[in-house]
Amino acid sequence: MNMQKFSSLPNLENKRVFLRVDLNVPIKDKKVIDDYKIYKVIKTIEFLLRKKTVIIIATHLGKAKGRYNEDLSTEPIAKYLAKILDKKIKFIPEVIGSVTKKEIKSAKPGDIIFLENLRFKKGELDNDDKFAKELASLADIYINDALAVSHRKQASVAAIKKYLPSYSGLLLESELKAFERVLNPKKPLVIIMGGAKIKTKAPLIANLYKNSTRILLGGGLANSFLKYNKLEIGKSLCDEESAKIIKKMMKEKSYKQKIILPLDVVVLTKEGRVQAKDVKNVLKTDTIFDIGPATISAYSAYIKEAQTLIWNGPMGKFEDLDFRAGTIAIAILVASRSSGHAYGVVGGGETVAALRSIRMIEYVDFVSTAGGAMLSYLGGEEMPGL
Ligand code: ADP
Ligand code: MG
Repeated sequence: MNMQKFSSLPNLENKRVFLRVDLNVPIKDKKVIDDYKIYKVIKTIEFLLRKKTVIIIATHLGKAKGRYNEDLSTEPIAKYLAKILDKKIKFIPEVIGSVTKKEIKSAKPGDIIFLENLRFKKGELDNDDKFAKELASLADIYINDALAVSHRKQASVAAIKKYLPSYSGLLLESELKAFERVLNPKKPLVIIMGGAKIKTKAPLIANLYKNSTRILLGGGLANSFLKYNKLEIGKSLCDEESAKIIKKMMKEKSYKQKIILPLDVVVLTKEGRVQAKDVKNVLKTDTIFDIGPATISAYSAYIKEAQTLIWNGPMGKFEDLDFRAGTIAIAILVASRSSGHAYGVVGGGETVAALRSIRMIEYVDFVSTAGGAMLSYLGGEEMPGL
């Protein structure tokens, strides 16, 4: 079953709504330490509260492997949400079972029920039909507001849609609207990509290649390209398995104009020194952790030409003060060109964290923490959750 628009939701009064959200937030000592994603879904929750529905909220948290893991319980998230909403929320210490069923049965309109981490169940990860059917049996209507997992074949975003009338949530709809603008972009379209998830991102570059004017690379992603340009990258982060895709892209006629690689990098040397170097001078014993000043300057010129900008993935190991400059420079450039000169879209967990660290989120036209899903969608890949 395909998803229908939020605006086409039927009369909701007294209905039980299964709301799939992405509240995969950082937690330390059983406390939420970053509430950005929670505030993003508040609008949908408040809407459903006004409509007097019973809201069943479900999310994944971390990389739970199909079994219970105390550190990945969603209870702290439920508590935090209750505080923001100033409302009692019933946390259920299981995903599905007799307690869940009993609580939902006795729930009244306006009640919020919060389920335990979906990924504690193997059926979730396997997109299992039986599990999806059980989830569906809890509710009358399904709403997906979790773009971040909509590129995955998992029960709570994919299989569940077979068993319930399904709708997109308010957040998801605003995200898809922004992506439409990028799918039909004003050119030049400049894409900046970096980060550590090379294996998932390399195929996406191939997908985005055709539509883009330039793709500027940094982070681990750039290292892999540098390597196949026969440059030394020492001990830097790199993904051998992406070689095939990269080599294929290198055969494209416009490769050299489109794929832009760092001219210089910041390395950590064997002696523990931090040094900017031309990419030709990297030693076997060096580790690349950032793009260098000449690269920032060159990328800045490309970014200023753009009418549409997409950025995903830090340019370096920005969590470390020594290797922060490249990512922060790109963040400032993208933010300052957005909202006016160019339509700017920034996605990805760490990328958004970098942008937030300099308080520049508001300057960017559209910000999504769903990095992988955003790039899958923009690259035309299948989205089982949509
Ligand atoms: P996002 O979540 O924004 O999509 P990724 O998850 O792909 O980005 O990657 C983010 C991580 O990549 C950051 O934690 C950063 O430290 C790391 N990173 C970027 N460049 C490098 C590098 N050259 N070497 C090691 N780690 C890097
Ligand atoms: Mg990440």
